[in-house]
Amino acid sequence: MSKSLKKYNDKRHFEDTPEPEGILGNYGPKKKLQFVIQRHHASHLHYDFRLELDGVLKSWAIPKGPSLNPEDKRLAMMVEDHPLSYGKFEGIIPKGNYGAGTVEIWDKGTYEPEVNPYMNAEKELREELEKGSLKFILHGKKLQGSFALVRFKNAEENSWLLIKHRDQYATDKEYNPETDRN
Ligand code: MN
Repeated sequence: MSKSLKKYNDKRHFEDTPEPEGILGNYGPKKKLQFVIQRHHASHLHYDFRLELDGVLKSWAIPKGPSLNPEDKRLAMMVEDHPLSYGKFEGIIPKGNYGAGTVEIWDKGTYEPEVNPYMNAEKELREELEKGSLKFILHGKKLQGSFALVRFKNAEENSWLLIKHRDQYATDKEYNPETDRN
């Protein structure tokens, strides 16, 4: 079993939940990297933001959801890596299971690092992730263009901010992921 997915597997009982078991996906130089955002209506509504890297989905839980307004800096709590197959998961996690509630795909597509996208994308992203400042371009249906995930300094290690950069996809209007389907 992948060490990276141990936490994911430890939290779940796969005989009780329809979620996929955590198995490391293919990785290495190849096709485009995937991203997915899942609207997760658990005890608290949040949006799970996931970026493919090194055969898993790096994951952040965003209580208010993403925004296309650069003024919004959305708190994103880094959570355990999820298997690539989780990117296709939609359904109901039964009561009594970790994250019990409804999961639906809110947006998905591909992404690439903003810096050096053609050299070795995963190497670039891995280094930026370790430094706590990840800059990337999303090619989704709802979310497009340049974004950053920035880790808080002097705070809990898993607290990050998701920020939209100013570009042609940004908006100055209020953005609510529940109603603004863009
Ligand atoms: Mn969640």
